[in-house]
Amino acid sequence: METKKKDIRALTKDQLREFFVKQGDKAFRGNQVYEWLWQKSAYSFEDMTNISLETRQMLEDNFVINHIKVDQMQRSADGTIKNAVRLHDNLIVESVLIPTATRTTACVSSQVGCSLDCRFCATSRLKRMRNLNPDEIYDQVVAIDNESRLYHNRPLSNIVFMGMGEPLMNYNNVLKAIDKITSPEGLGMSPKRIVVSTSGVPKMIKKMADDNVKFKLAVSLHSAIDDIRTSIMPFNATFPLTDLREALQYWYAATKNRITYEYVIWDGINDQRKDAEALVEFCKFAPSKVNLIEYNPIDDGEFQQANSKVIDMYVSILEANNITVTVRRSRGKDIDAACGQLANKS
Ligand code: SAH
Repeated sequence: METKKKDIRALTKDQLREFFVKQGDKAFRGNQVYEWLWQKSAYSFEDMTNISLETRQMLEDNFVINHIKVDQMQRSADGTIKNAVRLHDNLIVESVLIPTATRTTACVSSQVGCSLDCRFCATSRLKRMRNLNPDEIYDQVVAIDNESRLYHNRPLSNIVFMGMGEPLMNYNNVLKAIDKITSPEGLGMSPKRIVVSTSGVPKMIKKMADDNVKFKLAVSLHSAIDDIRTSIMPFNATFPLTDLREALQYWYAATKNRITYEYVIWDGINDQRKDAEALVEFCKFAPSKVNLIEYNPIDDGEFQQANSKVIDMYVSILEANNITVTVRRSRGKDIDAACGQLANKS
């Protein structure tokens, strides 16, 4: 019968050092193994060639390494790469590499499926199965970094938590993953190059401010009018815009970090002047940036992206109010890798 072995990567470096001391070995052995696990991304104890055979066997007897596996990699004509990532319990999440002229960005998942119910998002059709653990998030980033070096000849430069799931509903694990990503023993990336995107969980936005985090925040707003937002993002009934705004004010007061809003304009939903004006009102309390993102159709044509005249109307109203606005084009649509299209289709 198989006994349940512990995932060795759940141990901190200090815990690994202690483990070796208890085994009658040197604490330093813990550093060596830690290096194999994190800097060298070892998939098995066998790989750890500077550790004695006997010790490797002892590790094998006590632990497993629950590394993710990239099951399938799809490459888009525009250079975007989508990974279907298999977890140790055979569940699948997706992550995406998005290259531009100046940067390569990893878009990573934080949960298997999602508990939110945004009506325009493919992931919301999958029910939330579980949270990803910190290593599973970290591994996605390492896999993309390797692919970036291999296919685009440069390391990963940015990370966005815009894959599957709501990162603030798996806050502790997302934070631990970011700690590893930014630590010199992990990837040593600057937190300023990391964006956590949320549908807006007020309590957790305040907690982030209290925790003095250094990464950036993006909020998927899509409407600054409660009734409309609730009709497309039903959880807005639980976390209405006044609560969201109050939390964002708190965040801004604590961090002085500009807030980015993600916003799609749909025909017949939020395509009127009053919608743009409500957005301006909502943004006013702090320096903000609005990313008008392209809608990526997910199926039945219920949602249609508004035409360019409407987009121009938004841009001119936002600019007249000194709010930075960018119009973002989607990448990787031919392989269902664009925002809101991640649904384990292939
Ligand atoms: N749950 C987080 C992160 C995942 S979604 C969040 O809501 O922010 C990442 C971004 O893609 C969000 O801004 C989301 O609103 C947007 N999105 C979801 N479905 C989309 C679609 N079909 N087309 C374009 N953007 C979409």
